[in-house]
Amino acid sequence: MRPEILFPLFTPVSTLQGVGPRLSSLYEKLAGPRVLDLCWHLPVGMVDRRYAPTIEDAISDRVATLKVTVSRHIPSPNRRSPYKVICHDHTGEILLIFFHARGDYLMKLLPPGEIRIISGKLERFGDTLQMAHPDHMVPIEEEADVKTVEPVYPLSAGVTLKPLSKAIRASLALTPAMPEWLDESYRAQESWLSWRECLEKVHTPLSDDELTAFSPFRKRLAYDELLANQLAISLVREQQTAAKGRIIKGDGTLRAQMSDILPFKLTRSQDKAIQDVIKDMESPNRMLRLVQGDVGSGKTVVALFPMLSAIESGFQAAIMAPTEILARQHYKTLKPFAEKLGISLVILTGRDKGKARKVILEAIADGSTQMIIGTHALFQDDIVFSDLALAVIDEQHRFGVHQRLSLAKKGAGVDMLVMTATPIPRTLMLTAYGDMEVSRLTEKPAGRQPVDTRTVSVERLADVINGVARSLEQGTKVYWVCPLVEESDKSDLAAAEERYRELAERFGDRVGLVHGRMKGPEKDAVMEKFSMGNVDLLIATTVIEVGVDVPQATIMVIEHAERFGLAQLHQLRGRIGRGSEKSTCILLYQGPLGETSKARLTIMRDSDDGFVIAEEDLRLRGAGEVLGTRQSGLPEFKVADLSCHGELLATARKDAKLIMDKDPLLKSERGQALRVLLYLFERDTAVKYLKSG
Ligand code: ADP
Ligand code: MG
Repeated sequence: MRPEILFPLFTPVSTLQGVGPRLSSLYEKLAGPRVLDLCWHLPVGMVDRRYAPTIEDAISDRVATLKVTVSRHIPSPNRRSPYKVICHDHTGEILLIFFHARGDYLMKLLPPGEIRIISGKLERFGDTLQMAHPDHMVPIEEEADVKTVEPVYPLSAGVTLKPLSKAIRASLALTPAMPEWLDESYRAQESWLSWRECLEKVHTPLSDDELTAFSPFRKRLAYDELLANQLAISLVREQQTAAKGRIIKGDGTLRAQMSDILPFKLTRSQDKAIQDVIKDMESPNRMLRLVQGDVGSGKTVVALFPMLSAIESGFQAAIMAPTEILARQHYKTLKPFAEKLGISLVILTGRDKGKARKVILEAIADGSTQMIIGTHALFQDDIVFSDLALAVIDEQHRFGVHQRLSLAKKGAGVDMLVMTATPIPRTLMLTAYGDMEVSRLTEKPAGRQPVDTRTVSVERLADVINGVARSLEQGTKVYWVCPLVEESDKSDLAAAEERYRELAERFGDRVGLVHGRMKGPEKDAVMEKFSMGNVDLLIATTVIEVGVDVPQATIMVIEHAERFGLAQLHQLRGRIGRGSEKSTCILLYQGPLGETSKARLTIMRDSDDGFVIAEEDLRLRGAGEVLGTRQSGLPEFKVADLSCHGELLATARKDAKLIMDKDPLLKSERGQALRVLLYLFERDTAVKYLKSG
């Protein structure tokens, strides 16, 4: 149950005064549906209205707050001319200018003879001081409200600053004084104010420095958020590893046979990763290990050996892939080995329906099948395993935590091996997994050559196509990637189809097209032809991004490379350079390029190390944007910015560890406050685990 102290923050924004149905739906889209969300809607700028000169001294082009007496109104003579109001103080006159104004309204606001506080941007034309559309025109009693620094918030269509600021003020007024959840000595050392004071300060910036991530007020709030994140991860982890695992210890026969028929020698880091996993499985604890290896580093065999170990021990092993194409590819890779080893292997995807599906489900349930490959279809409710010991999740960033857990629940104490080619920077790893055990594949299989990457302006498209023609004549296979920014973006699909038509006109049947809107079997058929058959030039949208393996393809052209993120470009490029032939990647860009796009393309040209690229990506953009947090399964932060708050994260991690050592059930006074913190950052699931602990 959410602590009562937080109730006011979790009420809908519509309960705020002056926020009706129209505004509340706009605020919901902009910030979120609750008062708390408005509190987290932080200013990105400020307007300093403290400059309050006399009319005579006033400097042009500055925002100022003046105390004036209204002299007279000059209504506009026609629709094109402005309505003017002349005001004065004891040093001179100022002209207020209004376009498309309503006279009666202005007369009410600025009655002649009255004193008014006006605030806005000054302009001087010759001898005349002017202010067009003042931001504020209020009676003298309200002077103090105006002569301050005004925060500027991100806005959206239909949302203007004044009512939004008012709603945010109202939200802040509802924030309760929280119990202190920080370690007192640490807080004192950093000279941090309380949570509520910091939130207030963040919303009333007095200088540009206070708007940055390095402001002490923002840092405290960021620390709170990171501590909530690290503590939640520790609590969940405690829960997962506390659940009993099983000792899975095969006799090694299948693995020995497999080593004999494997057509290549494992790299050292593959060997090490396999040993890590096997050791985890042999221990009575439940395994949760991440294998992180760049595209093409050979993660599939790393999964294969532990799967064989599970099968040697009489259990089942499953591997789940995020797309149909990938699942089929794993099937194709593993099938010949399974046959030689005498293992029964099935594949289950969303495409299997009716009777065929039923047959597969039966084989999984009665244990007659030992190795199972599948897509999301694998964790549906009616899938029952006979005895699942090991679940491998390939390209795990494509799956949510819940999907991962639901596969883990398909057996008793299932060991989990998750694999990713996304080179997640260490800082981000910590926020997503805490100290999850990691094996890294640091080498590429022997004989691989680095991909020669070039950036080429789209103006030279004709040259590039001629180059592709020459390569095709020499028997090379070529990927041609067109951007599909969003799955629903029809015009991008049209661009891919257009490019396909154009190239098909020149190269005939040798050209294929694959995109996300195609039906599964259609996609497979094209991929199959590209991999084995007579399609040599494959026009594709990003559906080929993850995992597809066609070693004979050595050229990739990426159109509109400037539209892709670094991680995505790296993933795409990983499709080539998989054989022993020299590979080339051409990044076609449409100029003029912005600074960031230019930097990104340069990094791509100069490096092919996924981890270097990921760290650069983190530096170039905020952490939240790296990889696209939604699709990557990484947490999104409200205040914390990992490109600036890396050190805070490290401290929060240590702090969380100490808390888990000293007060794992959060029972002490600080523990109780920490519960509030977890709820404040909506880590409810983590708190739930406390009960069962
Ligand atoms: P990824 O890590 O991207 O999933 P894969 O497992 O698909 O990589 O492996 C890429 C290719 O490299 C496959 O064709 C695989 O057979 C091959 N491969 C894997 N390990 C080695 C190795 N040690 N030596 C040579 N080739 C290897
Ligand atoms: Mg793979």
